[in-house]
Amino acid sequence: MTREILHIVGAGLAGSEAAWQAAQAGVMVQLHEMRPKQRTDAHQTDGCAELVCSNSFRSDDPEHNAVGLLHAEMRRTDSLIMRCADATRVPAGSALAVDREAFSAMVTQALTTHPRITLVRAVVEDVPRRTGAASSLQPAR
Ligand SMILES: Cc1cc2nc3c(=O)[nH]c(=O)nc-3n(C[C@H](O)[C@H](O)[C@H](O)COP(=O)(O)OP(=O)(O)OC[C@H]3O[C@@H](n4cnc5c(N)ncnc54)[C@H](O)[C@@H]3O)c2cc1C
Repeated sequence: MTREILHIVGAGLAGSEAAWQAAQAGVMVQLHEMRPKQRTDAHQTDGCAELVCSNSFRSDDPEHNAVGLLHAEMRRTDSLIMRCADATRVPAGSALAVDREAFSAMVTQALTTHPRITLVRAVVEDVPRRTGAASSLQPAR
């Protein structure tokens, strides 16, 4: 456990997984997500880990495909993204495809109910450069 707060900018796939892994490791996390206050050209919702294009995570075959092997490795590290993907999986042959709305809703629920994660709905305009200044990171609006 640490009293330091880890600030993560963006609750996309990467930020959501990073926040989860850090929080599970005992770190207090503030996850800053600008939607819905500021939208992007790609995203349609306010949900965390929104899939902006295909609903496929590509091959889920760990024996013959590098992406499938990465899936298997992520599952072994208690990946939030993989757990939610497995729970919201839809038929797609050997690929791992998900119901994108259910997937995003499940990721969002896991993050917002985690005792060590605070989801801050604000745009981060600047990241402090000084040593130790990250703890003063404040949403711009
Ligand atoms: C049109 C399009 C099609 C794509 N198709 C595919 C595909 O088929 N397969 C594939 O693997 N990838 C595809 N991608 C790439 C896709 O974006 C990535 O796979 C994935 O979404 C990247 O996740 P991420 O977490 O890095 O970024 P994102 O999912 O983009 O997440 C970034 C998050 O940060 C937030 N944010 C950004 N700036 C700030 C700020 N200053 N303050 C607060 N919050 C902020 C955003 O709102 C967003 O929620 C596509 C991208 C686009 C645009």
